[in-house]
Amino acid sequence: MFSSFFTHNHSVPESPPFPYTVKVSTRAKSVRLKMTPHGGLLVVLPVGFNKKHIPDLLHRHEAWIKKAAGRFDQHRPEPLPLTENGLPCTIRFFCLDEEWSVVYNNKGRTVVDVSDASQKRLLLSADVDDADRCRRQLLSWLKRQAASHLIPSFEKLAASHDFKYSEALVWLQHSRWGSCSSGGIITLNTKLLFLPDYLVRYIMIHELCHTVHMNHSKAFWALVSRHDPLWRSNNREMKSAWKYVPPWVSVSP
Ligand SMILES: [Zn+2]
Repeated sequence: MFSSFFTHNHSVPESPPFPYTVKVSTRAKSVRLKMTPHGGLLVVLPVGFNKKHIPDLLHRHEAWIKKAAGRFDQHRPEPLPLTENGLPCTIRFFCLDEEWSVVYNNKGRTVVDVSDASQKRLLLSADVDDADRCRRQLLSWLKRQAASHLIPSFEKLAASHDFKYSEALVWLQHSRWGSCSSGGIITLNTKLLFLPDYLVRYIMIHELCHTVHMNHSKAFWALVSRHDPLWRSNNREMKSAWKYVPPWVSVSP
């Protein structure tokens, strides 16, 4: 689906007008600016470009950058409440129509207890001030939720549409929603849990069709359309589907 090429965070002595990430590309013939959903501004440089010119460049393209960033912001849904250090108080899985409240208790234990699951209350036994640790634990809980919900529905979908694959896995990926290897191993992004069900289904169908066509050829899209008549609008909507993923999931570790 989407290729990921976020490299390293770039910092320069003089403060740049916008936070950004740099990628040097052998294929780039000139500088390109790209606004990305999770990584913010991406500056693609041709080989040999002097990085000290970047702040200047950003100043010159300020209007475009602000507009591009604003476009992302206006699509963002109402944010859910967070703790002071950015941890979630509420976790909403759109595709499952499920909402969890997270209760932090700092008794020093390091396991995530899911207590009172019928009330969808997640008790996180870890020091709430240790945001990194809490976040890691929430992410591993998230992966377990994704495995137990996404895999069975993927299996069902594959069987009902008569697709064969060798294995299905969930993985917390930065910017790919799913992938299919030539050996028929399909990976689904944990973040799909936050998307509406029709988009999750579209991604699953998309990856299953890659078991037949390992490309985005006409034949591939024809096959996708047989299994998802609304594929065109779904595919278009996927371009902004990042908006469903809460920030605490997407920040770099
Ligand atoms: Zn694809």
